[in-house]
Amino acid sequence: MVFPVSIPILLFMTITNYIIHATNKLNALSSWCSAAPCPANGLLWSRVSDGINTPIRFFEQLPHWRISLMKAILNYGAGDLRLESIPVPQAQDDQVLLKVLACGICGGEYKLAKASNGATPAAAGIIPGHEIIGEVVQSATDTLPAGTRVAVSPNYSCGLCEACRTGHLYLCVNRPKRTAEIGGGYADYALVYPGQCYALPDDLETLDAAITETLACCLHGVEKVNIQPGERVLIIGAGANAQLFVQIARIRGASFVMVVDNLKDRTEMALSLGADMAVDAAEQDPLAASPLLSNGADVVIVNRGRPEAVTDAVNWCASSGRVLCYGVPPAGIPAPIEPHLLWKKEVSVVGSRSYGTSFGASLALIASGRIQVRPIITRVVALDETIDALRTPQASIKTVIVPSA
Ligand SMILES: [Zn+2]
Ligand SMILES: [Zn+2]
Repeated sequence: MVFPVSIPILLFMTITNYIIHATNKLNALSSWCSAAPCPANGLLWSRVSDGINTPIRFFEQLPHWRISLMKAILNYGAGDLRLESIPVPQAQDDQVLLKVLACGICGGEYKLAKASNGATPAAAGIIPGHEIIGEVVQSATDTLPAGTRVAVSPNYSCGLCEACRTGHLYLCVNRPKRTAEIGGGYADYALVYPGQCYALPDDLETLDAAITETLACCLHGVEKVNIQPGERVLIIGAGANAQLFVQIARIRGASFVMVVDNLKDRTEMALSLGADMAVDAAEQDPLAASPLLSNGADVVIVNRGRPEAVTDAVNWCASSGRVLCYGVPPAGIPAPIEPHLLWKKEVSVVGSRSYGTSFGASLALIASGRIQVRPIITRVVALDETIDALRTPQASIKTVIVPSA
């Protein structure tokens, strides 16, 4: 009796052992293959747009070993943007995996859709998007438990270069490059580092928080020109940043704020957010439009990519005035400035890029309602509408991508 009973037991144990062994093999293969960069890219799985997606379907038929995919916009250079399905990135111990709840389109990112933007081709593709609001999915840090909503500060510094060592972390020359795996918010998921994450107050709406990075940059710019109570401020351009500059200028105590633009909907919004006057410079000389500006403005903020805007800014500046070059012409394009005017009026021309320490202040100002951001968000798009949105910058003052929209 012993012999016939032991055969089925032996068979059962052998088959079970085989299944466990095969499971371990496939699990190891699956997690190894999901790691980035995947040495087997194109062999075991491949981006769907490559057309070699049979192996993905193989794994998808086996739910336990399924490789999770996400939608993402990848930039391959010079207007070459593609919506693709790629693996969800895997968080290392020092990283945080976020489900992207919203991502603002920065003004400078519209050039990504232009075939003439001069970008060098990126064979692996890069996910754009640095204005990320996300929900923590995976984190090794107790202070960022799963489910926490965070605003992501895109400035992540090496701490080693001269800029970092002199306290200008945002000018770090070794900023990690955004890749298909790290950082970009034009996707369902994004990998970031704990130090980049600022938890959102519970009552702050996700969409409003998407303006945090933009406002942080504007606050930094205003610090550079140090708007004082009672000063006159002239803002060239009435895009999203200008709408924020109007409000910051009022908070800083400016006595008069003028916006110069030819787009009626934008100048009307600026007036509703606190500007005292809006002028189309093609129709009226801004300095002649108000007696308050007959001697010029104390601060002129340039939000236009045309060289003439910088020339105008210096001309429109009062004595001891300051010009902030915030939105500027592309690299390699000079702007004519009359040095005699700089000397005669003692005008300072400064630039501002990104932000230093104002990210937290920005979040606090939005949460407090002291800065209104919701009126500025005039378009919300899903990921599959994003490439079209990038091709139509004039259609919206500020566009925010909501992957789940
Ligand atoms: Zn931005
Ligand atoms: Zn550095």
